[in-house]
Amino acid sequence: MMNNLLKKKSNLPDSFAYLPEVRSKFVRDSILEQKPKIREFPAMPRLPIVCGTKSGLPFECLMTDVVSGCLPVDKICYGNCTSSGFWYNQGYDFGKRSLNEFDPVRFRESALALSPDQKWLRQGWASDCSFSQESWIIVVESANILAELAISMVILTKLYALPTKEMLQQLVQAGTEIRVSISALDSAQELARRLSFLHSFRDLGGKAVPYVISSRFSEPALATNQEAILNWIVEHDFIAGENPLRLNSDNRARQFLETDGFWHPKFPDEYWFGRVCHKIPNFLLPPPTHLGPAYTLPFRFASEAIDQEIPGLEGNLPTFEELQAGYESPSKNLFKHATYSMDKDLYLSKTAG
Ligand code: SF4
Repeated sequence: MMNNLLKKKSNLPDSFAYLPEVRSKFVRDSILEQKPKIREFPAMPRLPIVCGTKSGLPFECLMTDVVSGCLPVDKICYGNCTSSGFWYNQGYDFGKRSLNEFDPVRFRESALALSPDQKWLRQGWASDCSFSQESWIIVVESANILAELAISMVILTKLYALPTKEMLQQLVQAGTEIRVSISALDSAQELARRLSFLHSFRDLGGKAVPYVISSRFSEPALATNQEAILNWIVEHDFIAGENPLRLNSDNRARQFLETDGFWHPKFPDEYWFGRVCHKIPNFLLPPPTHLGPAYTLPFRFASEAIDQEIPGLEGNLPTFEELQAGYESPSKNLFKHATYSMDKDLYLSKTAG
């Protein structure tokens, strides 16, 4: 019933079109060259699922991914995924996923050791928690433990597998925020599933947030798709967030982007435009890197949130106009998403049981 509902295409914006030819160009030559070698690498290591810096994670607001690894080398998002590159360099095939180890007692202990002012946790940072029913079971169980400690979970997902309605009801009860990544490159099926899910989760009482992977597209069909998505968000009264796309210099898809972009201040080889959706009032939420310990989202509809205070927001990524005006990062923490210390040995040494 729930799965049928989530597969309905009725939510797809009329002017949206899947562009498989364009999508196939989102690849990096340097990664393609390594493909045969990467496929020989072993599966991703299993990690214990814990929370916060005392357990070896780089941020207090972070818990271990439920799954280690993500998509195969020729399917990584936009051909540009920072965490895949890290794990290839460590000698693992990021596409051979492993379900991480969940011990509820250990997880609770690590949550109890969090700083008392930390009121939310991000579910993972280098994968996606939606790969299987088993992964969703762990998500729900960990969200329930956190809720007992008055901590809410923030999930970022592309919804590879759908949770059951019962799971979603538990996530609603636990105060979970689910951000669903959507983009002009999605297939019609992917986008329909993601938009339908946003409606379904919000209808159940959940905090459902479209999270747009945005850019300034020179390719008219991509620009039309992004416009259709933005119109859909406004029309359906969603609170939204934006994650500007960054492409490395050797990504063939740079041909589809405008030429007035910038090289990222932290990653000089990555091309981007900063935020481009900020003039739309629905875009109220920054990326998780700009959520302070007290963050909570007390609203489910943009119309009730606009002009209200959302506790715990701490700035946002620069806009395109700010970059044009010669923006300089006011603090080194502004790009802390780019300074995640993915030190596997340190993490494993601190979390080994
Ligand atoms: S879902 Fe996230 S971790 Fe997985 S390939 Fe895409 S960007 Fe990388």
